[in-house]
Amino acid sequence: MKNQYLTCVFRDENNIIRVKTRITERIDTPHFLSPILLPNNCIFRQRLVEHFHIENYHAGTQLLLSILREKYWILGGRRTVRNIWKACVKCRRYKSKSPTADPVSLPADRVKDAAVFEVVGVDLAGPLYIKRGTKVWAVLYTCALYRALHLELVSSLSTDAFLLSFRRFVARRGRPRIIYSDNGTNFRGTYNELAAIDWNEVSRYAEIQRITWKFIPPTAAW
Ligand SMILES: [Zn+2]
Repeated sequence: MKNQYLTCVFRDENNIIRVKTRITERIDTPHFLSPILLPNNCIFRQRLVEHFHIENYHAGTQLLLSILREKYWILGGRRTVRNIWKACVKCRRYKSKSPTADPVSLPADRVKDAAVFEVVGVDLAGPLYIKRGTKVWAVLYTCALYRALHLELVSSLSTDAFLLSFRRFVARRGRPRIIYSDNGTNFRGTYNELAAIDWNEVSRYAEIQRITWKFIPPTAAW
């Protein structure tokens, strides 16, 4: 097959080797009618395909072959193009599958029968900006069983403001038995808001109320 094409090559006026195709009667660009022949093991060919791959937004094998065919006749083109596509770091990143893990059993607190807001998770969202540019934060109380959500606004991230929001939550929804929260120590930068609260004091307050306060690592399932 290759040899057949190699016998149909000629040099144009600029001494460029081109392939004589069978579609010369077609009205089309001269490049398409007699494309430039690119030999095997040629670094220019390698760079050319890489260039077209990036210029066409990391095109896949078939699309890239079609684009290249408009001007070039690449011997063993599909293999070359596929190898370059496979070697492209960006494409590999998007092609790779994300790691998966087998699902594990949910903790007992998530699955046993309980009233709404009996087992609660606490987290902070914000800061939010209200009128006059005042900063506020939302304290999220999430029911661990039914995923019901209770929101409280706090105007500062002090321990007192947090405990007041907690008292409002208890007054409205009843006293929870178990509370899950991360105490913010593992967070960095903008996510450091929970760390501003004195969690020892919160735990002491919860103990008086006979509430078990459980600290979990950030992003852990609960
Ligand atoms: Zn790519």
